Amino acid sequence: MSWQVCNPATGEVIVDVPCMGQKETNDAISSAYESFYSWSKLTATKRSKYLRKWYDLLIAHKEDLGQLITLEQGKPLKESLGEVSYGAGFIEFSAEEAKRIYGDIIPATLPDRRLFVLKQPVGVVGAITPWNFPLAMITRKVGPALACGCTVVIKPSELTPLTALAAAELSLQAGIPPGVVNVVMGNAADIGDALLASTQVRKITFTGSTAVGKKLMAGAAGTVKRVSLELGGNAPCIVFDDADLDVAVKGALAAKFRNSGQTCVCANRVLVQEGIYEKFANAFSKAVQNLQVGDGFIEGVAQGPLINEAAVQKVESFIKDAISKGAKVLLGGKRHSLGMTFYEPTVIGDVKSDMLLSREEVFGPVAPLLLFKTEEEAIRLANDTNAGLAAYIFTNSIQRSWRVSEALEYGLVGINEGIISTEVAPFGGVKQSGLGREGSKYGMDEYLEMKYVCLGNMNSN
Ligand code: NAP
Repeated sequence: MSWQVCNPATGEVIVDVPCMGQKETNDAISSAYESFYSWSKLTATKRSKYLRKWYDLLIAHKEDLGQLITLEQGKPLKESLGEVSYGAGFIEFSAEEAKRIYGDIIPATLPDRRLFVLKQPVGVVGAITPWNFPLAMITRKVGPALACGCTVVIKPSELTPLTALAAAELSLQAGIPPGVVNVVMGNAADIGDALLASTQVRKITFTGSTAVGKKLMAGAAGTVKRVSLELGGNAPCIVFDDADLDVAVKGALAAKFRNSGQTCVCANRVLVQEGIYEKFANAFSKAVQNLQVGDGFIEGVAQGPLINEAAVQKVESFIKDAISKGAKVLLGGKRHSLGMTFYEPTVIGDVKSDMLLSREEVFGPVAPLLLFKTEEEAIRLANDTNAGLAAYIFTNSIQRSWRVSEALEYGLVGINEGIISTEVAPFGGVKQSGLGREGSKYGMDEYLEMKYVCLGNMNSN
């Protein structure tokens, strides 16, 4: 059995790939399990060197990987190249951090004892990733997992498996032994069930929708696996009266329209204070109008297609709901004349908190503007959601930026910045946006078990 991977900009079939299921997943788990012993026993320096070599190869193939991402995912080539640098950064950071996985010595409570804490790899990790960052969502998991001594079975999205396969091939070229990095693709539910059922898989790390994340969390209970979840967001982007207008427009544009609005940290609601609302709405709409839509391979294109027809239909239904409840289309609001899954960059005014655009992730190039009067109201509106991943604030007041950052129930806050993700800082959500953190020194803990060792009878000979 096979299925076709298609270019979302043209609909053309790129290639047929094999459709795997439970049997292939169990084979991959066995291979990861068998490799675990030797991989985890390598010195940290040795693992670090392998990861560094993998990083070098990812960077050496940046152009090819970037083209592959644009081909199967549709984002503009410039963004794809940016994703390769960002994604490879997690491998480089993990190579460095591998050498700094320290334990502890605890002052003993009895004179003839010594107490230690060892950090050891969790074991085989099942990593399930989405289509919107076909490389970075994989390296953000696999880099730290390998650095800690774990082996992995990766399940990329059926929509974007090619980048995953290319990255895995480069891991082999880097000398990482076969069996350490495994990729299975095909029937998501079958693969997911096999990973969940296996007692050899000790951890599931997932990036994707909140609905699937909840299923995996429940499924992991059967074998009491560790779980890390990076789920959906509903990011508020709050523009206060005292913001620098140019900085706010530029920041909101970047936070909203990257990857045509298809990222978990995309501004989903732009909350604008009444004193700057008109000015901001005009300047922002003008900036959005300048975004060139088209095939991501064309120079100058800033907005590629949406991933598929279902994504366009979701955007359409959200806009219909907003208009029926009194919102106004300030710009765009319909499919693009290019056809396929291209959608016009859109700004909607007079959005209210009961509209779908405010309640759920639109995951498309639509910026809903909501008016607020006071700081307290902005915080209340921003926190009025089950999601809690990224939030953005635009203000020139240091006091306000601290006050509001502390009050926001979110895992990441950007102040006067629209793009804040980096491999050196912890990324993750609160509430129903997830569990755990990726990137930075904190991301390593997700792949480590703590073992307490007590050495007793120290006074005997
Ligand atoms: P999705 O539908 O949840 O899919 C994510 C992954 O889960 C894909 O590989 C998918 O496979 C797989 N999957 C689906 N059903 C499964 C099941 N029953 N068992 C095991 N695996 C299953 O999400 P998506 O549409 O690809 O991605 C968009 C979502 O991801 C958005 O909500 C976005 O906010 C979120 N996201 C979050 C972060 C973060 O860091 N918090 C980052 C990026 C994206 P198939 O694709 O093959 O069906």
